[in-house]
Amino acid sequence: MAAAAAENVAVSALRSVVLRVRQAAERSGRDPSQVRLVAVSKTKPVSLIRQVYDFGHRRFGENYVQEIMEKAPQLPEDIEWHFIGHLQSNKVKSLLAGVPNLALVEGVDNEKLANHLDRAVSNLGRNPLKVLVQVNTSGEESKSGVDPSGCVELAKHIKLQCPNLVLSGLMTIGMRNYTSTPVNFRMLSRCRTEVCKELGMAEENFELSMGMSGDFEQSIEMGSTNVRVGSTIFGPREYPKKQPN
Ligand SMILES: *Cc1c(COP(=O)(O)O)cnc(C)c1O
Repeated sequence: MAAAAAENVAVSALRSVVLRVRQAAERSGRDPSQVRLVAVSKTKPVSLIRQVYDFGHRRFGENYVQEIMEKAPQLPEDIEWHFIGHLQSNKVKSLLAGVPNLALVEGVDNEKLANHLDRAVSNLGRNPLKVLVQVNTSGEESKSGVDPSGCVELAKHIKLQCPNLVLSGLMTIGMRNYTSTPVNFRMLSRCRTEVCKELGMAEENFELSMGMSGDFEQSIEMGSTNVRVGSTIFGPREYPKKQPN
């Protein structure tokens, strides 16, 4: 029956994104297994995430603490959750306690936040937590992302002063409206070169999280190892309407 055979919309969108990720990697002579796809599910219901999970996808990204804390316990424990974007220091404790299967924090942009994460991991006795340093590559005034000139210092702090964190790479959002340009991607790549040189780390093992719905293929061609794709998989986000006062 046609209806029974019809695949869920999000699952078929994911399928197509997975294919495009692989093709972009191959086009640029890279191993497709070196590019991770994070399905960004913010504002989307657990039932929809579940369908994508049942298809076999395991990596999901959220960027509101309260939302991920509500969703994570309703979903299987083998999901690798990524917290993406701005995180407030005072929410770290509840985030880590509430989401034991948090795999990566994409968006450490100051030492205070790094210290809070480090301490919370230690207090909970969980495995060391992987983190990426978030870099503001657009120069736009924004609340998150360290200036490129400060990325070495912050990376060094995490590597040397935060024994419970694993410095795994860099991340950028690009512009405030969630788009990026080749300039943003090149800037992040340059930051990686500097950080790796300064800390004596191998660039091949240091991640670049860049690329979203509109530009993930281009970002892969420019070296991304982690793309964060939301609306192309799950459809446009629906934010609750503000109540009139
Ligand atoms: C929402 C979000 C995304 C996904 O954006 P899309 O354009 O919907 O793919 C990626 N990264 C971060 C940090 C986000 O907050």
